[in-house]
Amino acid sequence: MKKLSIEDLSIKNKRIIMRVDFNVPLDEHNHISDNTKIRLVIPTIEYILNHGASLILMSHLGRPNPLSKEKLSLQPIASHLSSLLGKDVFFAPNCIGPEVEKMAQALKPGQILLLENLRFHPEEENPDLNPNFAKSLASLADIYVNDAFGTAHRKHSSTYTIAQYFPKTSAMGFLMAKEIKFLLHAISNPKKPFYAIMGGAKISTKIKIFETLISKVDAFFIGGGMAYTFFKALGKPIGKSICDDSMVNVAKEFLKDAKDKNIPVYLPIDTVIADHFSSDATFKTVTFEEGIENSWQGMDIGEKTIDLWKTKLKPAQTVFWNGPMGVFEMDAFAKGTFAIAKILAQLEAITIVGGGESIAAVNILNLDDSFSHVSTGGGACLELIEFGHLPGFDVLSDK
Ligand code: AMP
Repeated sequence: MKKLSIEDLSIKNKRIIMRVDFNVPLDEHNHISDNTKIRLVIPTIEYILNHGASLILMSHLGRPNPLSKEKLSLQPIASHLSSLLGKDVFFAPNCIGPEVEKMAQALKPGQILLLENLRFHPEEENPDLNPNFAKSLASLADIYVNDAFGTAHRKHSSTYTIAQYFPKTSAMGFLMAKEIKFLLHAISNPKKPFYAIMGGAKISTKIKIFETLISKVDAFFIGGGMAYTFFKALGKPIGKSICDDSMVNVAKEFLKDAKDKNIPVYLPIDTVIADHFSSDATFKTVTFEEGIENSWQGMDIGEKTIDLWKTKLKPAQTVFWNGPMGVFEMDAFAKGTFAIAKILAQLEAITIVGGGESIAAVNILNLDDSFSHVSTGGGACLELIEFGHLPGFDVLSDK
C-alpha cells in the first residue's frame, strides 16, 4: 500500500491527533448499544500510547441539533474507552479553543484526550464555512492519523481538510488499512459465485452501488424497507410500507438492466406486515402475490423468503451484505435479519458485512467471528466498492 502508515513514522514524544469513528449506536437511555467501532480502533490507540506519543482523539456522534446537543456529547464515550483501555481518558468540553489547546499541550507521552463532538461545529461538515476550523484542530498536534474508515467517504474538516496541515505526516491507522485492503481485494477479485444482499431503508443512497455491483455479482437479494420501492416499480400493492417514490423509476430501470444482463434479482416472496409501526403492533405474514392491504405496512421478510434464499445462497463463494432485512430493532420484526446473519455465518464463503445496523445484528448474535470481514463503514464501504477509492484515504501522505 502506497499510503503512509502509523508504523512508518517516528512518534516518540510526538502529539498525535487521530480521527476515529465513535459514532456508535445509542439506545433510548443514551447508552452505547454496540461498541464495535470503539473496540476495533484500540490496536491503533495502544500502538500510539505504547510508542511514547500522546494522543488526541476526535470524532462525531449522530447529527446534533440544538435540542439533541446534550444527548450527543462524547463524554460517556470517554468513560467507556477508559474502562476498555484500563487507563484514564481525559475529556475536553470542546474540540477547539484555548481550553482545548491547554489540555492538549499538557498531555504527557502515553496520555490520551478525547475531544467533544466535532459536529457541534457546523464547520466540521461544511469546511467552507470556516477553513480555520480544520487549522485549529491541526494546531493541536504534530501528526495526523485517520483511523475512521466509517467517515472516510466524507470531505469533512477532520477527515479531509485537516490533512493539508500535515503534508508529510498524515497517516492511516490499522483499522483503516485493514478495511481498505480487505474490501478492495475481496470485491475487485471476488471468488465466484458472488452474491450481494442489500437491505435497509434508504434506497437513494444505495442505488449507485447496485449499478456498480451489477457488473460484478452473480445475483442480488433485496430485502428491508427498500424492497417495497421495487415492488411498487413492479406494480404490486404495498399499502403503507416505506417507499421512496422518487426512486420507483430508477428501481424499474435497475430491474430491466439486471434482466438484460441475466443477473437474477431475488425480491422477498413473502413479508411480515403490521397494522402500525410499533413493536406492539398486530402483525401477520402475506405473500407478495396477495399484496399488502392499504392500511398495513411491510416490516420484515417472511419465512418462505428465508427458506428460498437459504437455498439460493448455498453455492456462494463471496457474499457482500449491507442493511437489515426488516425493522430489526423491534423483536417482532428481527427474524429476517437474524436469519440472514445465521445463514451467512454458516457458509464456507468469503462473507463481508458492512453498515451499522447489519453489524449490530451480527454482534447481537455473537457471530462477528464467523464472518470473514465485518466492516465498520456503511456509506464508506459502499463508496469504496463503487469508486475504488475514498477521499479521506486519498488525502493521506504517500509513503
Ligand atoms: P439504512 O440506514 O438504509 O441501512 O436503514 C437501516 C434501517 O432500515 C433500520 O433502522 C431498519 O429499522 C430500517 N428498516 C428495515 N426494514 C424496514 C421496513 N420494512 N420498514 C421501515 N424501515 C425498515
